[in-house]
Amino acid sequence: MTNSFYPPIRTLMGPGPSDVSPRVLEALSRPTIGHLDPAFIEMMDEVKELLQFAFQTENSLTLPVSAPGSAGMETVFANLLEAGDKVVTCQNGVFGGRMKENVERYGATAIMVEDEWGTPVDPDKVEQALKENPDAKVLGFVHAETSTGVRSDAEALCALASKYEVISIVDTVTSLAGIEVDVDGWGIDAAYSGTQKCLSCVPGLSPVSFSSRAADIVRNRKHRVQSWFLDLNLVMGYWGTDAKRSYHHTAPVNSLYALHEALVILKEEGLDQSWARHALNHQAFAAGIEQLGLSFIVAENYRLPQLNAVTIPEGIDEAAVRNQLLENYNLEIGAGLGSLAGKVWRIGLMGFASNRKNVLFCLSSLANVLTEMGANVDGQAANLAALDTYKRS
Ligand SMILES: *Cc1c(COP(=O)(O)O)cnc(C)c1O
Repeated sequence: MTNSFYPPIRTLMGPGPSDVSPRVLEALSRPTIGHLDPAFIEMMDEVKELLQFAFQTENSLTLPVSAPGSAGMETVFANLLEAGDKVVTCQNGVFGGRMKENVERYGATAIMVEDEWGTPVDPDKVEQALKENPDAKVLGFVHAETSTGVRSDAEALCALASKYEVISIVDTVTSLAGIEVDVDGWGIDAAYSGTQKCLSCVPGLSPVSFSSRAADIVRNRKHRVQSWFLDLNLVMGYWGTDAKRSYHHTAPVNSLYALHEALVILKEEGLDQSWARHALNHQAFAAGIEQLGLSFIVAENYRLPQLNAVTIPEGIDEAAVRNQLLENYNLEIGAGLGSLAGKVWRIGLMGFASNRKNVLFCLSSLANVLTEMGANVDGQAANLAALDTYKRS
């Protein structure tokens, strides 16, 4: 007989999912009601408002797509692109490559602007590409590249989009709630995010937001959106502001309770406070990591506080370290992705997981495992460096 599944209790410090707050897990277990129940519809309106708060936008087309971040990405490209469009597509890691995939699969042409992994998108190169392609319709880039831990200057890149009169598509999956995201202030036309990174909600939902200009493009398409499920013209019948909401698909009711709770928690804390907490825990962690003799692959100015890509000491089997952390400490950290596989660990300090306890726990566990494997590291010095950062804050 197969028994019930009880997952081990882990600390999640990889690239996502991140630790989910007990409040969010409790919300998830509340009774399921109908997705057209008036009480549920009222909650949906609050989810929209809370997402507008998180994205810092008044965009009325702001809603959670009923599928993970990758589906939010697909929603944006499926609705905004038509065959033959030109998209200046920035790639400095894995997720920029996925943008390219989307652009090409929807019959558009990707004009690639490539930067080294571990460096931000270069605005000068973007400007050059926009100048050389006056017929481009879109600029697409990843704000927080989770494969490398790099932050690109979304404000500067959106300013270029506006200067050259193209619409901007921004991947904010890892940035939202961890670092500043200002959809209206920066003039982002379409943003998509995920619930399992700095929102610390369960995986499987993807908040998206479209400016009125982007929403007009969706409404006035020449051809129908190829995907029935992701066609926002239809989804709006359910998520829209019309008094009469109609069935499109069965919303993931309980997951939406969880998202509502995660956003209430974010609102209670405040956006500035959430960003400041992520920054401080990163600084303490970085001080410790450097004491362990490890280094960051990203220059200080462009580091994401929520995703730390750090080097592996000489002669150490990086996968064995991750396995031991998981087995002996119930601690999950991430492996390198793409061209950084085997070269870095990716250690997340996202959302609910970004706290002092996790910083100190991760530093000491990592030091213990490395010491057992024969590396010459000083765990005590690492802890003291982190503590000192907190004391000075
Ligand atoms: C995680 C991630 C995604 C994909 O989100 P999923 O929920 O895994 O589908 C997209 N872009 C970036 C930058 C991410 O970090």
